[in-house]
Amino acid sequence: MAEAIKPEDMPVLMPVYNRSDIYFERGEGVYMFDDKGERYLDFMGGIAVTGLGHAHPYIVQALKDQAEKLWITSNVFKTHGGDKLAQRLVDLTFADTVFFQNSGVEAWECGIKVIRKYFSTIGQPQRYRVISFQGCFHGRTLAAIAAAKTEKMVGGFGPMTEGFDQVAWGNLNEVRNAITAETAAIMIEPVVGEGGMKAADPQFLRDLRTTCDEFGLLLYFDEIQCGMGRTGKLFAHEWAGVTPDVMCIAKALGNGFPIGACLATAKAAQGMVPGTHGSTYGGNPLATAVGNAVLDVMTKPGFIDQAKRMGDYLERKMVEVAKRHPKVFIGNRGKGLMQGLICVPLNLDVVKALREEKLLGLGAGDNVVRFLPPLIVTEAQIDDAVAIIDRVATKLAGA
Ligand SMILES: *Cc1c(COP(=O)(O)O)cnc(C)c1O
Repeated sequence: MAEAIKPEDMPVLMPVYNRSDIYFERGEGVYMFDDKGERYLDFMGGIAVTGLGHAHPYIVQALKDQAEKLWITSNVFKTHGGDKLAQRLVDLTFADTVFFQNSGVEAWECGIKVIRKYFSTIGQPQRYRVISFQGCFHGRTLAAIAAAKTEKMVGGFGPMTEGFDQVAWGNLNEVRNAITAETAAIMIEPVVGEGGMKAADPQFLRDLRTTCDEFGLLLYFDEIQCGMGRTGKLFAHEWAGVTPDVMCIAKALGNGFPIGACLATAKAAQGMVPGTHGSTYGGNPLATAVGNAVLDVMTKPGFIDQAKRMGDYLERKMVEVAKRHPKVFIGNRGKGLMQGLICVPLNLDVVKALREEKLLGLGAGDNVVRFLPPLIVTEAQIDDAVAIIDRVATKLAGA
């Protein structure tokens, strides 16, 4: 029998997380304040969500303004905010069309539906399988865990959704060998988040594009974590100079207000006719008002360039801090403002020690501690974080 919680020990919040005892009440930029008034340097940002920091005045105002006007119409009606946000995402990317959802995994799953529908529409319904990569994460629905195949996520939740073939990260030979007459798409996170902050080699992404074109497959990028400016480009795949056919985004698109989006080319989305997909809340006026406000800020000339400069700075500091503490850190990896330190001690012990010193980081796969500061972070704030990492690492090395 598997591990179980006794009835008398069952908390009112289903205990699927090891939640901290800290209660946060307020945020401001890169800081969060708990109910005792203690200030924390927030280098996890709700897990890569607060790209513009907490309580950004312009975003707050956009939400307040919309809250006084209209919250929901259902997708039976269009709204100017929804049209505008979709048009902007189309203008900014490879995509011709967008569907809004409420979360990352919903946007991801919409992408899987787009892919399957495409092949059934062009008369090849036997092609439905998607090649995924070891260590990638796509969310927690039954289909998303079937794609990731991580034991911790799938154990006890079977039977698994059919149609996902996993190959080793970065291995083009394995990808090509996994392609069969049933393969529909190749799917990847251009920079892996939960799985440990690994950036795909730009050449590998280009090779995936070439392979998809060669076999008539669709290329699907999950930029839920690495998108929206985090790597120093609006989308991480821009570093490779290739585009996907389908992409899902979420997290920083709403800066904390729930919104996700599935982006696709006209070709890929050709089967998504009325009635084939839907959502009650997806793309509601509150979410699209916030999404538009986020894009207003992120598309200001120089904004992403500044995020890139801070990403370069953070990366340099991570290289240096890892070198200073070889007993605690093996090295660093990531891209831009998406950085991880590979730990010698258990990563969660490092996260805990950092938290005691009022720096919020987050564990990730491969025993990594990850840092996802807002794009508005300053050099001085990065220096403050690194000083805390130095202090904690010195303590851990002596322990
Ligand atoms: C967070 C994340 C998801 C899932 O997003 P949710 O909003 O939690 O459903 C999917 N893919 C990636 C790469 C993510 O980082």
